[in-house]
Parts: sequence; structure tokens; C-alpha cells
Amino acid sequence: MSKNSPKELLEMAREAKKFAYNPYSKFRVGAALVTKEGRIFTGCNVENVGFTSTICAERTAICKAISEGYRDFVEIAVTSDLEDEIVTPCGVCRQTLSEFGSNIKVYCSKSDLGFEEFTLKELLPRAFENNHLESFQATIKNTSPFSIWQQKKTT
Ligand SMILES: [Zn+2]
Repeated sequence: MSKNSPKELLEMAREAKKFAYNPYSKFRVGAALVTKEGRIFTGCNVENVGFTSTICAERTAICKAISEGYRDFVEIAVTSDLEDEIVTPCGVCRQTLSEFGSNIKVYCSKSDLGFEEFTLKELLPRAFENNHLESFQATIKNTSPFSIWQQKKTT
């Protein structure tokens, strides 16, 4: 949990929103991500003419945190220029956040910073998580062509 209130985190997200690179959509988003250690990483959306190269504010903040050695996230605040409704993380950002914990608190706000609070699990129920991959790999461990080849090689 951060020492900062959700409102203070949303104010940081609003500051980050000022740096949005959004020549195509004109839609600005800012995010403030809090690590278990209390560090805060902000991010804005960075668009690209090749639209799939665009990165959202949330993932910008996540990449900044990961690249500096932080992987445990507890909160994220998100804001945009939407006046009448809150902005929520897109599906890709929800999946990216879920890699680092399902209990992350997500503060989603309108442009005036009026917000609603969710857990990531509420926003992304039944997420595809690393334990699914581990249990799949356990089931194929002794039957995959590679493991059969390995068994032959060692005997
Ligand atoms: Zn996104």
C-alpha cells in the first residue's frame, strides 16, 4: 500500500497524462503505478503510426518499473480526458498487470479525478495466469517429443 491516497496517485497520473504522445487518437491517458516497496512509476500513452506499436499509459508505467527492478505492484491509478465516465485499463493492460498479481487495486477516474476502485480480479476474472502454463507443462512433461528424445538420450 502506498503512503499516498488514491487522489494523490490520480493527481500524479494526471501530471503524467500531460506527456501523452497521441497524434492519432488525441486521447490522453496517464497512470501511476505503486510497487510493494512504495515506489511510484508514472506513464502516459505513446502512440505510433503502426497502431499495434502503440503502448498504453499503464504498460508504460509497468515497463518503467520492471526495467528498474520492481515487479510487485499493489496499486495503479488511471485517468484520461473523459469527463462523464471513468477510464478503465484495456484488455492488454489488464492481462499485463495480472502477470504481477491479481490483487492489485485499480483506481479508475474521470478527468476531474472522481474515481471508482476495483481489484484487478474484478476487472479480469478468470485470467490466464502462469499457473495454467505450469500445470499444462506438467501434463505434457513425459509425453512430448522433446522429453521422449531426452529420455532416449540419457538411457
Ligand atoms: Zn492498455
